Amino acid sequence: MDDLEDLYREIILDHYRSPRNRGELESPPAHRTEGFNPLCGDEIVLTVVVDEGMIRDLKIAGHGCSISQSSASLMSGAVKGKSVDDARVVMRSFKRMMTVGDDDPTAEDEPVDVRKLGELAALQGVVKFPVRIKCATLAWNTLNQALVELDA
Ligand code: ZN
Repeated sequence: MDDLEDLYREIILDHYRSPRNRGELESPPAHRTEGFNPLCGDEIVLTVVVDEGMIRDLKIAGHGCSISQSSASLMSGAVKGKSVDDARVVMRSFKRMMTVGDDDPTAEDEPVDVRKLGELAALQGVVKFPVRIKCATLAWNTLNQALVELDA
């Protein structure tokens, strides 16, 4: 388990130091949504192009702690180029991984298969630190908000 935790720490640090899909798309045509986690001071600026149900392009700007920024980088890689429906499946799995179980009584009980989450599984250790969960979910909540605003 220690080896796995080392690997997870490496993945988080790698995405923090070399964030993927960093920057801002021109808006418009891209849709721009800001997310803020006042508990930690994390900020995410998400610009996304959704066309015919597909996330064609997506960039992340902003600043904050290593968890918030690496989670944003991991999120960008997990959903860019995917359909909105597939992105929502990943989003739900990620948020289920991040809950301690008392959060949504209507959620199905089937366990999350972390292997399907790929590198996103690196963030599962965050559930041990409840104060950091909002850091890890910020980018996902911002994406969700963008999709709602876009009515996608
Ligand atoms: Zn944070």
